[in-house]
Amino acid sequence: MQVQKPYRILLFYKYTPLNDYEEYAEKHLKYCKENGLLGRIVVAPEGINGTLSGTIEQTDAYMDYVRSDPRFADMWFKIDESEEHAFKKMFVRAKNELVTWRLENDVNPNEKTGTYLNPKEFYEMMQEEDVVILDGRNYYEFDLGHFRGAIRPEVDSSREFPEWIRDNMSQFKDKKVLTYCTGGIRCEKLTGVLMDQGFENVYQLHGGIVTYGKDPEVQGRLWDGKCYVFDERISVPINHTEDDVVIGRCYYCGKVEDRYLNCANPFCNKQHFCCPECEQTYKRSCSDECREHPRNRFVEAEKKAKLAAAGAQS
Ligand SMILES: [Zn+2]
Ligand SMILES: [Zn+2]
Repeated sequence: MQVQKPYRILLFYKYTPLNDYEEYAEKHLKYCKENGLLGRIVVAPEGINGTLSGTIEQTDAYMDYVRSDPRFADMWFKIDESEEHAFKKMFVRAKNELVTWRLENDVNPNEKTGTYLNPKEFYEMMQEEDVVILDGRNYYEFDLGHFRGAIRPEVDSSREFPEWIRDNMSQFKDKKVLTYCTGGIRCEKLTGVLMDQGFENVYQLHGGIVTYGKDPEVQGRLWDGKCYVFDERISVPINHTEDDVVIGRCYYCGKVEDRYLNCANPFCNKQHFCCPECEQTYKRSCSDECREHPRNRFVEAEKKAKLAAAGAQS
């Protein structure tokens, strides 16, 4: 029998009107801090979007707390087990939108959104003809892992999608368009944007990639690489079958590698695939300039380690 891990990571969102969103954010932050939860939550006039970590007891209590509000009574929490917290701090922010789209004509997912597909339906439809699969995330998430054959969007924020779709996808208007993202929230409006641009057959993966990876029947089939997540894990496995393919390549030596690291220059932070050997050789820095930066974190850590070693010897 598998032993349950002591922590959980929750991922959740809901589009529902919150007229008191600023107050709600304050109240919510207070609850989270008092109950030892860590993570990032956005509250907006259109709803809530969040991810956080805590012990089993803390997250159980949190889910009850959220659902005790009738507006969130049916909240769907995606749950991962974990050995530890996945965040260092707790933020609850009141913003204008849950995901920054800044659309000229906003779409309300409760009124207009693509047809939801469960993992099995999505898996089957991906293999039909006349289908295009559009990744609803940013290019650096795509590069770590994606559905086989999906279109790589050249965007690094949701805001860039409407224009990118207009410029790159018009030849697919008569096809079925399948979209997916991490937990589902970005597809809620992305599919509406596609519909507004004249795409007629638009579908979205309900519950996102993380739900797809947990489906006992599909087991993450047709997913290559890993799934980027916005917490300290950086990535999680999705495809649990033997046809899992690592798609990352070390930025320096080109060897197959799916460790995603941030550049050690704190003012760069560029994410890059990096093998353990090259991390040492290149000091986890994406360029000479970053390597020589006075605040380079890799170099600072090296110095500290040397000092500690010298101290231990004397
Ligand atoms: Zn390497
Ligand atoms: Zn850099």
